[in-house]
Amino acid sequence: MIVPLSGYALKTLAPETAVTVDRSRCVRHRCTANRCTKCMDICPMDTISWGQGGLHINTGTCTQCLACLSVCPTAALSFPGLSLPRLLSDLANHPLPVLGCKGQPDTDAHARLSCLGYLAHPEVMVLFALVIPDGLHINLTACSECANSHILDSVVAAHDRLKDIVPGHAVRLIQNREELEYQAPSLSRRQFFTLFRERSASAAAVMVRRLQDGAEQQPYGNKRVPATRALLLKAIEASPVANYRTIRDQLFGKISFTSDCTRSKRCVGVCPTGAIQSSDANGKLPVFDQTLCISCYSCQSFCRNRGVLVLDNNRTAFK
Ligand code: SF4
Repeated sequence: MIVPLSGYALKTLAPETAVTVDRSRCVRHRCTANRCTKCMDICPMDTISWGQGGLHINTGTCTQCLACLSVCPTAALSFPGLSLPRLLSDLANHPLPVLGCKGQPDTDAHARLSCLGYLAHPEVMVLFALVIPDGLHINLTACSECANSHILDSVVAAHDRLKDIVPGHAVRLIQNREELEYQAPSLSRRQFFTLFRERSASAAAVMVRRLQDGAEQQPYGNKRVPATRALLLKAIEASPVANYRTIRDQLFGKISFTSDCTRSKRCVGVCPTGAIQSSDANGKLPVFDQTLCISCYSCQSFCRNRGVLVLDNNRTAFK
């Protein structure tokens, strides 16, 4: 059901600030054999299409639900002003941070996304759980009345997966206004500095500082790991509660080489992240690094011999 936008939501969802695509990162542009349609399948407004010029976004119909950003394996899609490190840093400044959306009143959140559909990816949810271990409330109270209400089930499904991946996490979804524990950041100067000292030593603030250390990505040729994965790998290293093996097995992609692999190394060239690299030894299978695999299927699509198969661990719950 599409609910008409009204009031604040209508003003903030201006069409000129729609999703944009970096074609150099899109797997379908990088590899013609890859028939990825994830962003097109997910968009309820048919805003994204594939035509003669490649991927096209109709800015006039985009409702900024960010569902396409959630499903794009290579982060080829972006939204103006959306910076994950800045968002985490803003949230870490509050004792009990509330994350909301731009369709809500100013009084209901400490930091906002244009739409909480961005959280529908389990990898994003796990990142929030690790970086803000003392408690994060996600304010979904306006979702059922919003034009983007289709995101709700997917955010809930991504959150459901958290309990197995980060047991004991403190991320709560708030759907009833009575449960919202928003505290406005209005403090006297003295209270502000006391709180600043406390928050600087908090687990979330320490995590955010560690994510910022050496945040520059080291690209491998034209290969690059999406920002969410790069931050998640750093968060796993810094977090005392992260279980690397569980996160790897439940979130990261996996490939297997079949007996039909001819060692052509086509998969090495096409992999957008550098997850597959040539082996030093002649005639050996390529070397696979699961921490970099984003389940984009480029290797499987590009291999003429069915020499490599992908296991997608990272599907979102969008229908
Ligand atoms: S190993 Fe295959 S599925 Fe994984 S990122 Fe590389 S090309 Fe994509």
